Amino acid sequence: MTGGPTPGEAPFENQHAEKPLAPGLYLVATPIGNLEDITLRALRVLRSADRIACEDTRQTAKLLGHFGIRTPTVSYHAHNETSRATVLIEALKSGARIAIVSDAGMPGIADPGAAIAAEAIAAGIAVYPIPGANAALSALIASGLPADRFTFHGFLPSKEGQRRTVLEALRNEATTTPITHIFYETPHRILGALEDIIATFGPTQRVVIARELTKLHEEFSRGTAAELLADYTKRPSIRGEMVLLLDGTPCTASAENTSAPNLAAEVQALMVSGVTEKDALKQVAKDRGIGKSEAYREWQRTKKR
Ligand code: SAM
Repeated sequence: MTGGPTPGEAPFENQHAEKPLAPGLYLVATPIGNLEDITLRALRVLRSADRIACEDTRQTAKLLGHFGIRTPTVSYHAHNETSRATVLIEALKSGARIAIVSDAGMPGIADPGAAIAAEAIAAGIAVYPIPGANAALSALIASGLPADRFTFHGFLPSKEGQRRTVLEALRNEATTTPITHIFYETPHRILGALEDIIATFGPTQRVVIARELTKLHEEFSRGTAAELLADYTKRPSIRGEMVLLLDGTPCTASAENTSAPNLAAEVQALMVSGVTEKDALKQVAKDRGIGKSEAYREWQRTKKR
């Protein structure tokens, strides 16, 4: 057994502080902006490990330099994950203590880490989580949206068609209890994402954008999708890291959008009655108040499914 206190022990007891680090793989969370968010345990593990495998050794060097940690580092990122994992697992089998860190936050959450954890477990090696900062959960708890049930989706697809398909699937999910959807987003895609949320969930859909969490310019924008799109469109530039949260509570989805039959069904109904595909698309676009090209794209996407 590893990790937490055994029955009868105080939950906050500092059980390991003076003991040498046990052999195994340590998944260490690091700050997502504010260096104060490193834990005492994370510092001890990083200081005592034989090696730190980093997503970007230069990025981690800044963190280690700040805390005066001189543990050797090795790169472990998306492009060498498989080959480097083999080497690290061999070292772990010989009793090494290896820490994994990503550039920021929790390894394994939209970052490398989960694959080596699975390999280590399969090889019978002890795997220890060293908890700490994470952008998705930090955004969720201060968003004001339901936090009892939530789904973390990582990044939304960058292409509009695929993004809408993902959002439509969420809109169509049968849910009776409140749920919040969490996405990682980038400044250059946030406007497109908001436009697609409006197109799928409707303009009154409640959303939150959590930007620059834990940093000097931390900002929470809370409102409807249309309000946030208007706000972000007005900004001279959009910068910083951001988390996008969507209230999946059924009653908040736009009635107009959720109850309307889907576009493909309307086009097909017209075609069955003898209208050509082109004219059917034209008619449906007009009825919905959307452009012909948007209707065409939606139609094409539905046909591919
Ligand atoms: N492993 C990290 C974690 O535990 O949160 C996430 C890494 S992922 C590659 C990077 C994305 O996380 C960013 O594009 C952004 O969406 C989100 N993110 C990271 N730091 C953030 C911050 N300080 N404020 C808002 N979002 C952040």
